[in-house]
Amino acid sequence: MRISLVFLGLSWLALPCLSKNQELNTERYIDGLDHDDLRTVLDLKPDPWRSVEEGHLARLLIPRACESDHSTDVRNYMKDIFVKLGWHTEETAFTSKTPIGDVTFTNLIATFDPEAPTKLVLSAHFDSKHYDTWPANQFIGATDSAAPCSTLLDVAESLTPLLRHKQTLVQADEYEGDEEWAHTTLQIVLFDGEEAFHDWTATDSIYGARHLAERWESTYLPDNHAYHSSYLATRRYDPTPSILSTIENLVLLDLLGAVDPHISSYSKRTHWLFKHLADVEDRLEELRREGLPNKGKGKGKWFEGFGWAGAIDDDHRPFLERGVSILHLIANPFPRVWHTLGDDASVLDMPTLRKWNALMRIFTVEYLGLPVPSSSPGEVEQSAGMGMAARTDDLVSLSRKEGIMQRMKRKVRVRAELVFVLFRTRICSGYVVMGLVCTASVVIDRDNSISSHQYLLDSKLSGDCLIHRPRS
Ligand SMILES: [Zn+2]
Repeated sequence: MRISLVFLGLSWLALPCLSKNQELNTERYIDGLDHDDLRTVLDLKPDPWRSVEEGHLARLLIPRACESDHSTDVRNYMKDIFVKLGWHTEETAFTSKTPIGDVTFTNLIATFDPEAPTKLVLSAHFDSKHYDTWPANQFIGATDSAAPCSTLLDVAESLTPLLRHKQTLVQADEYEGDEEWAHTTLQIVLFDGEEAFHDWTATDSIYGARHLAERWESTYLPDNHAYHSSYLATRRYDPTPSILSTIENLVLLDLLGAVDPHISSYSKRTHWLFKHLADVEDRLEELRREGLPNKGKGKGKWFEGFGWAGAIDDDHRPFLERGVSILHLIANPFPRVWHTLGDDASVLDMPTLRKWNALMRIFTVEYLGLPVPSSSPGEVEQSAGMGMAARTDDLVSLSRKEGIMQRMKRKVRVRAELVFVLFRTRICSGYVVMGLVCTASVVIDRDNSISSHQYLLDSKLSGDCLIHRPRS
């Protein structure tokens, strides 16, 4: 993608003219989970990653240029995950002219309930940038966008039992959430061909997204489609609704996974969703600090910027031009390793990745009003979340023991150092020594208490920091 320096008045006055859905506003009140429910969602399987060699990420961190065998392998790998989860999958293959000749691209689209009238779309691109020569053709694109893809796989895996439970409740007329959004489903779109082959232009970039937006715009809904009786259909003038019409909001993740990203809001239409994500981030931070006597040393907030004075060209553009409501989650400024061989596993920050997983899980649960399982076993088909909660308790116990041991060691070391210093400076007064040692012990105890909790909650929400070296 590239930064498009467009003035506010130009971009946001011009773009709506392209849209027949311009007046659609999907803003609504979203009920936030309390801390107990947040913990339950974080405890859902799959387990938090401890390194990039675990889980799906390891399978994605390879060069995945369009039309390569690796690209096919990665797409098949992701498709198999959705098939095993019971999602509907679709691959849209097409051939397009590019600066290096005709290339075949294939988007992967996975939908929990393909019969649903409306959907929330989460998306990322799975291709890595094409380079002609070695060693540049070993480019991996860990942040661009292997890591966002792995986050979307985590959302699908962790939330499928909750989606299924909600579906059962709705069918039994027992769903307690808002009726208007009860039937909204989750769709995950993994774009091929986001990267330009040469310089980024309107025709040499986002091949998969341009194809899919055109295809969906020209695929009209049959008369018996559930959309016609949905709340969206009653809110806008849309005499010939297409597949595009069924999208409530499209969220695009890109260039994520490096430490401390700065995320801006680029759309007035979805600023309410941006603010909601910022709220989720605040609640995660509260959870992390819960029970701590003092304020912890959390990293800075990610969702604070307002990028209305410019936009970043990316896979969302063809959808935006057709009136789809877009939330673009992209690190701005870009990661320092952008489009270099340095964009490999070494740039990924595990706490950051785990926080992205946590954010997107909670955002999706709250957006879709998914029922969070209570502590009663068997409420949902897969009770793995409860198992993870038990392991969380184990983690707490372990951490406390480690904390006590750390404090004891630190006390002994500090007392020894103080006695040594005082002995050397010959200001040995017994009372002074005892007073200083006791004061120091209390201070160190309090600091250790904070840091041990900090470590525990960090590891649950985002994990201990593991930086990995590049693959050979
Ligand atoms: Zn890129």
